[in-house]
Amino acid sequence: MSGTFVGMPVFPPPTHPAFPPPTHPAFPAAARNAVRDTTLRGNLRHATHTIRAKRANAVAEVSDWAELREAGKRIKDHTLRHLDRHLEQLEESVTAAGGTVHWAVDADEANRIVTELVKATGESEVVKVKSMATQETGLNEALEAEGIAAYETDLAELIVQLGEDRPSHILVPAIHRNRGEIREIFAREMSEWGRPAPEGLTDAPAELAEAARLHLREKFLRAKVGVSGANFMVAETGTLVVVESEGNGRMCLTLPETLISVVGIEKTVPTWRDLEVFLQTLPRSSTAERMNPYTSMWTGTTDEDGPRNFHLVLLDNGRTDALSDEVGRQALRCIRCSACLNVCPVYERAGGHAYGSVYPGPIGAILSPQLRGTGSEIDASLPYASSLCGACYEVCPVAIDIPEVLVHLRERVAQGGEVTRNGNKVVLKPAKGHAAERAAMRAARWAFARPGALRTGQRLASRTRRLHPRTLPGPGRAWSGTRDLPPVPAEPFRDWWQRTQGGKGAAK
Ligand code: SF4
Repeated sequence: MSGTFVGMPVFPPPTHPAFPPPTHPAFPAAARNAVRDTTLRGNLRHATHTIRAKRANAVAEVSDWAELREAGKRIKDHTLRHLDRHLEQLEESVTAAGGTVHWAVDADEANRIVTELVKATGESEVVKVKSMATQETGLNEALEAEGIAAYETDLAELIVQLGEDRPSHILVPAIHRNRGEIREIFAREMSEWGRPAPEGLTDAPAELAEAARLHLREKFLRAKVGVSGANFMVAETGTLVVVESEGNGRMCLTLPETLISVVGIEKTVPTWRDLEVFLQTLPRSSTAERMNPYTSMWTGTTDEDGPRNFHLVLLDNGRTDALSDEVGRQALRCIRCSACLNVCPVYERAGGHAYGSVYPGPIGAILSPQLRGTGSEIDASLPYASSLCGACYEVCPVAIDIPEVLVHLRERVAQGGEVTRNGNKVVLKPAKGHAAERAAMRAARWAFARPGALRTGQRLASRTRRLHPRTLPGPGRAWSGTRDLPPVPAEPFRDWWQRTQGGKGAAK
């Protein structure tokens, strides 16, 4: 069958725009531009509302969903607490099964390892399974710099790659594109990189899928090296698991002679028993499917089938920094289902590109500042990219309290100053800006530490309440211009309590 493609013309390798760009504006500025794009807003609204409704129905069918959610949370927490032990066990299991394990402290090291492994095969192209970890490290760009072409094979990733675009959603990276736009991209670009789109291609989903299938098939059959991520890694057997809906992952994982998987260390689960929970919650939370269509599992190498060489690159890239934060570490429970994106009112309007990260939406707002630090404009602004409505927490299948982490990170930005990652070291810089906020906090601390002064101040505020302005002066004007200041009560609570409760309790 592969003979069909002998003598296929060699096409120029795909190019990849740097993502995030070297300088990305803060979230408010990026979001302001995005909300003006009515096509984008329409595409996002349609897509997120459709997925969100389907997910709600799929979850409602499961009578023990709350128990599954709690079990997922506990498994992840327990694993993260003993991650060192589970990773060592994983390494032993993978090695015993014929694989080779590599450890990468950051993105550069991961990219260097993968590039050298590909070069050692003598190949100059790879096919890729959809992988957030390799997007995070910018692997495609690193390979391109070394003359190695990386072809995305997930349908949505293919659309993004052909369009020289950037992903805007974890599960559906081309969610910002509608069918007409996809047809145009296929018709215009496919011939540049391989098999052209069929003549007279329309925007019917079946035709678009068939065009992608034909275009990708020649790449699957030619490729000698596959690159993947993994949804889970089972420590007790060294088994990796990829959960996908199209079957492209299965092709990449089984056809090439060499398979290289780049996986974040937090994707470890101790046992197969643990996997059982996530294989129930992930499909329903992400694609609203009762059971996942293609679940590929592999353990090292086998003589009869699949790749002859298997390499696992375990990626840290800020994860151990996040792990050391008692509040923030819960972000590492994430199984990348995207449910939080699909219910988020901010994501629905701003879209994924405004987050300046491969991880957009609520999970991106808490994960990116922890993995990258808050030293850049965009990362320092991400914890504020939320209304704290809590919808993300409600739908999260591993119960990550995203609003709690957002508030925690806001505190870090406001009080601790900028945090930058300098190699492995977290460096605190003195905070710039937020001076008014810090002054207000200092005044509040002084008053709350002096009950007598607080009482006097409250009584004074009550007696003069008719004189209070309805808007704040100076830098507070913008804030109060869009909000109603709460009225000061005629009688302070403490006095009311004293008068009505006769001094019972603690109000003094
Ligand atoms: S934070 Fe929760 S809801 Fe959001 S992608 Fe991760 S697991 Fe899914």
